[in-house]
Amino acid sequence: MGNVINTCQTYRCPCTSGLVFDDCCRPILTGHKRAVTAESLARTRYSAHIVCDLQYLSETWHPATRPAVIRLATDTWWYWFEIDCVTDGSPADQFGQVTYSTYLRHKSNHVEQTVEANFERVHGRWMYRNETALIP
Ligand SMILES: [Zn+2]
Repeated sequence: MGNVINTCQTYRCPCTSGLVFDDCCRPILTGHKRAVTAESLARTRYSAHIVCDLQYLSETWHPATRPAVIRLATDTWWYWFEIDCVTDGSPADQFGQVTYSTYLRHKSNHVEQTVEANFERVHGRWMYRNETALIP
């Protein structure tokens, strides 16, 4: 990965929340806190992509759709993430849908991807199930 990871306390969270990493996704990636909403799970999974946390990606992937091996693209630089729409996915829900856009650079191309991702709570924990790519 071409991403430089700076773990000092003032480092802004990769999920582009505007918060610092230590007050946003990091405590969830390290297991000190839980993602209590589907949106939080979507944000932390994006951050996990940035910091190459394959264990978190695996643990938060629904057993029914989780691949045997998770691989991350090595020639892609993700640089922005935006939540477009959230349906359900609150601490009281069983299912949730989060539409989000990711912006990345692949070789010399800038690419925007928008997906509608489905999340489901399994044994009380939010998990990513699958997603549908939306045509921009
Ligand atoms: Zn974050």
